[in-house]
Amino acid sequence: MKYISTRGDAPALSFEDVVLTGLAPDGGLYVPENLPKFSQEEIASWAGLSYQELAFKVIAPFVAGEVPDTELKKIIDDSYSTFRHDAIAPLVQTGHNEWILELFQGPTLAFKDFALQFLGNLLDYILKKRDQKVVVMGATSGDTGSAAIEGCRHCDNIDIFILHPNKRVSDVQRRQMTTVLEKNVHNIALEGNFDDCQNMVKASFGDQSFLPEGRQLVAVNSINWARIMAQIVYYFYAGLALGAPARPVSFSVPTGNFGDIFAGYLAKQMGLPIDQLVIATNANDILHRCISENDHTKKDLIHSLSPSMDIMVSSNFERLLFDLYGRDGSSIKQLMEDFKSGSMSLSEEALSTARELFTSYRLDDDEMMEVIREVFDHTEYLLDPHTAIGVQAARKTRRRQDIPMVCLSTAHPAKFPEAVRKAGQTDDPALPHHMADLFDREERFDVLDNDIAAVQKHIAANVRA
Ligand SMILES: *Cc1c(COP(=O)(O)O)cnc(C)c1O
Repeated sequence: MKYISTRGDAPALSFEDVVLTGLAPDGGLYVPENLPKFSQEEIASWAGLSYQELAFKVIAPFVAGEVPDTELKKIIDDSYSTFRHDAIAPLVQTGHNEWILELFQGPTLAFKDFALQFLGNLLDYILKKRDQKVVVMGATSGDTGSAAIEGCRHCDNIDIFILHPNKRVSDVQRRQMTTVLEKNVHNIALEGNFDDCQNMVKASFGDQSFLPEGRQLVAVNSINWARIMAQIVYYFYAGLALGAPARPVSFSVPTGNFGDIFAGYLAKQMGLPIDQLVIATNANDILHRCISENDHTKKDLIHSLSPSMDIMVSSNFERLLFDLYGRDGSSIKQLMEDFKSGSMSLSEEALSTARELFTSYRLDDDEMMEVIREVFDHTEYLLDPHTAIGVQAARKTRRRQDIPMVCLSTAHPAKFPEAVRKAGQTDDPALPHHMADLFDREERFDVLDNDIAAVQKHIAANVRA
């Protein structure tokens, strides 16, 4: 299968090259040239498959002709063998026809493990086959860094460098990264904020001449196509468990960069009967404003109690826009040019299609904490702050009670004890067993000045031969 850029001005690439490339040279994002489609009969025949078996069915068409079936099966099995729950993505009922899809059973307690465990194993396979070594460089405000490190820690052909803003990530989040002591894992605590980290990574991708001969940077942020692809699977898994394709299912998704919910949109285009797709945002509500008022204006970042959704611009939204504009790359190029000044508005046609596909809702911290309290009072189920936003957005925008509503739980509450405590829980939620000694483990990281030359020198010096 070939992959094309949303801005229409970059060469089409193979699957393997897309995984290694990240952003297209024209500034766009890669999407499949043709989306695989499954018939209702075929989807129905998947009822009862394990998560891993289903993942194979959903992913195989995207990698056809490049990754052999036996290799793909092994990559999938290895990726989900690190999860603590045999169902991989278990469903828990919290109300009438309302379900929580627990996507936090992976090694770092957030849904990002679904994509990054898979991406790590996939990169390992591709790089070994090509006898190639790469450097993974990324910036994190919390969840991405630890999931990427867990995904890459066993990859011989990868050196991974993750920048986090020194003293500005939570203790749990920092320790999940810095207690991984493999020789190919490098944590950099930058004397700056998250934007400084991100700008440094961006600039380094732009000019990679600081790297040792023969090395290139690989991006593992949410624009990497393989991450989106791996996330399509759990929509099918939950849908099948709740009666699809014989009956439709709805999903509510706590949204930041639009990666997770875009995977849901793809599942629908591929044949899964999805009724509602709910975009749930915190006070950083650019997507909610876009859908409800056609106001896609960049605003200052607000620091919320759901920090993994604190974004000003949702980068994967461009992939949806590409479809909304009839896959016309030049329209997207123009739109993104307009947006550089800080604002853009959608055409009537694009907006009305977007509104047919998505509903949206926004919650501030107070409303979010009220939801944690209420759900706990009624079910004794403790939501993390991101998941709480999804649950309330589902309740506020739900059209039909007879269609199951699945709320994606993107993190374990123990990852965000501050929000849970503020919501009135007296005891901090306990870390799962495998992480109970997190605060006793040895940490390793380097504190570096907010100076790109110093950081690049550090990277070049620490890449293994
Ligand atoms: C990354 C993240 C999100 C947002 O996901 P997107 O794919 O960026 O929309 C939501 N919740 C948690 C806990 C996350 O880590």
